[in-house]
Amino acid sequence: MQDVEGGYTRRVAFVVPEGSSWPLPLYELALMLAARASEMCVELELHFVTPESAPLEVFGPEAAREVGELLRTAGIVVHTETHVDRFERGRAYLAPGADGLDVLRVITLPHFEGPAIAGLPSDAAGFLVTDVHGCVAGAPDVYAAGDVTAFAVKQGGIACQQADAAAEHIAARAGAGVEPQPFTPLLRGMLLTERWTRFLRRDAAGGHDDSAAAGRALWWPPSKIAGRELAAYLEGLDEGLGRVRGLPVDRHVDADPPAVEILSLH
Ligand SMILES: Cc1cc2nc3c(=O)[nH]c(=O)nc-3n(C[C@H](O)[C@H](O)[C@H](O)COP(=O)(O)OP(=O)(O)OC[C@H]3O[C@@H](n4cnc5c(N)ncnc54)[C@H](O)[C@@H]3O)c2cc1C
Repeated sequence: MQDVEGGYTRRVAFVVPEGSSWPLPLYELALMLAARASEMCVELELHFVTPESAPLEVFGPEAAREVGELLRTAGIVVHTETHVDRFERGRAYLAPGADGLDVLRVITLPHFEGPAIAGLPSDAAGFLVTDVHGCVAGAPDVYAAGDVTAFAVKQGGIACQQADAAAEHIAARAGAGVEPQPFTPLLRGMLLTERWTRFLRRDAAGGHDDSAAAGRALWWPPSKIAGRELAAYLEGLDEGLGRVRGLPVDRHVDADPPAVEILSLH
C-alpha cells in the first residue's frame, strides 16, 4: 500500500501458486488494493494469475461468476488456468504460453507441503490419509484433522468439521451415547472487500451440489472461521476482551440458510 501510495509501484501481480488450496485471502487482498488505489485516484495495473479454471472455483459456478464480476469491476485482469513459470528482472513469465507480465511486485501464498511425520504412514506429499471419522489409515487409534490431512481443501472451517467427526468417533468408542457422524465437507467462506462481505457456501455432499453466494449471512455466527464450536469460542474470546463485534440475537440458531432467514436482529 505504501509503495502504491508513494507512486513506487504501478503494476502488481497476485499469483496463486500451484498446489495452494486456499486462495480466498489473495482475492481479498487484490480487491482491497484495487479499491484503495481507486479511492486515492492512483492508476494501478493489477493482474490475478491462478491455476483455477474460474475465480474461487472451489465454491462452484455461482461464486465464480460473482467473484469474476467483482474482479472485472475492480479493473483486475484475471489469468485463469495459468501459473508463473519464472520471474526475472521484473517480468513474470506465464505458462502455458510464453506471455510475460511486467510487474514490480508479486504477492503470493504459501505452497503446502505435508510434514511426513515419522512413524505415521502418509501420502506421497507427506499428508496423513484419514477415513470419514478422522482415523489415520494404517495407524489404529491415531486421529488427524486439519491441514495435516490429505483432504484437498486446507481451511479452518473444514478442519473444525474434521475435528468434530474425530471427536464424536473417539467419544463413541469410549462409551459415550453419541452416534458418530462422518465428515461431510460443507465449505463456507467469507470474502471481505473494502466495502462488502460476500458469503460463499458450497455443499457437495451426498451426490447433490448446492452452492450459494450472497451479501447476507449464510451461516451463524457469520464468522471467518465457520466451526460449530470454534466460531462461538472465538467470539467469546473477543467478548472477554471487550471487543463485541456481533449483533445480539433473540436465540441461538444453528447455521443453515433457512434458519438464518428467521433471525430477528436488533
Ligand atoms: C493467509 C491465510 C488466510 C486464511 N484465512 C482463513 C479464514 O479466513 N478462514 C478459515 O477457515 N481458514 C483460513 N485459512 C486456513 C486456515 O488458517 C487453516 O486451514 C487452519 O489454520 C488449519 O488449522 P490446523 O489446526 O490444521 O493447522 P494450523 O493452524 O497450522 O495449526 C497447527 C499448529 O501445530 C503447530 N506445530 C507444527 N508442528 C509442530 C510440532 N512438531 N510440535 C508441536 N506443534 C507443532 C504449528 O505451530 C501450529 O500452531 C487461511 C490460511 C491462510 C494461509
